[in-house]
Amino acid sequence: MSGLRVGLVDAHNHVQEEVLAPYLPDVMRRAAEAGVTGMVVNGTSEADWPEVLRLSREYPGVIPCFGLHPWFVGERSPDWLDRLEEYLDAAPSAIGEIGLDRWLRDRDETAQEQCFRQQLALAQRRGLPVMVHCLRAWGWLLEVLREASPLPAGLLVHAYGGAPELLPELTAMGAHFSFAGNVLDPARQRARAALAAVPLERLLVETDAPAMLPPAPFRPFVTMTPEGEALNEPANLPAVVAGVAQLLDVSPDALKQVLAVNVQHLLGGIEGVL
Ligand SMILES: [Zn+2]
Repeated sequence: MSGLRVGLVDAHNHVQEEVLAPYLPDVMRRAAEAGVTGMVVNGTSEADWPEVLRLSREYPGVIPCFGLHPWFVGERSPDWLDRLEEYLDAAPSAIGEIGLDRWLRDRDETAQEQCFRQQLALAQRRGLPVMVHCLRAWGWLLEVLREASPLPAGLLVHAYGGAPELLPELTAMGAHFSFAGNVLDPARQRARAALAAVPLERLLVETDAPAMLPPAPFRPFVTMTPEGEALNEPANLPAVVAGVAQLLDVSPDALKQVLAVNVQHLLGGIEGVL
């Protein structure tokens, strides 16, 4: 799996999460068997960056991203930004997962925005794309991105849940939009409307594993933990892609070709990452 890894790429997941660790060799084997040739694995805090880096060394299909997620800004160390740069230097990688979140009840919006801006500035300086998380914070996100623009290497808004009306401005800022299995839930009308409105050349598909287990029948692989938690995994990506293709009224193969080109567009500028 050397050289061009662009086949079918999971545009966003967190296979470094501890809950997956006992199952990881099987999870990675099933992903490869299902035809998933690459995956963008997003770190969320200093605590999981080492594991993301380790996975990228063990599994050639892993494209590592390092970033401080808005849920974990309270856990950052005083020199977190220097450490982030060290990880970005350690492997061909991008910046993520970063962003803004007003869904979280106990949150520090000042710290969130400050960390987000610092990482956007880093992305600008290093010419790297960013993987963006946004929950119930769309106006805020646009405000910050307007001030931080231009982001020459672009961004990915993962599990896009914003209104379709926001797509043109985000597209003009260089955004790609990825959709997870939850868009296959008929109740997710806004996400489905957004999916239909995304320019095809900016569309990506993700699992967000181990989170966002797709609705049946789009989840051939589910691992139950002893605690009864149902885990999503990257091997579900082809089923999610097939579901998305159905919603867009295109063939899965045609969609896969589009997605491969889009992954190349988003990540191909990073030396050595694909
Ligand atoms: Zn994520």
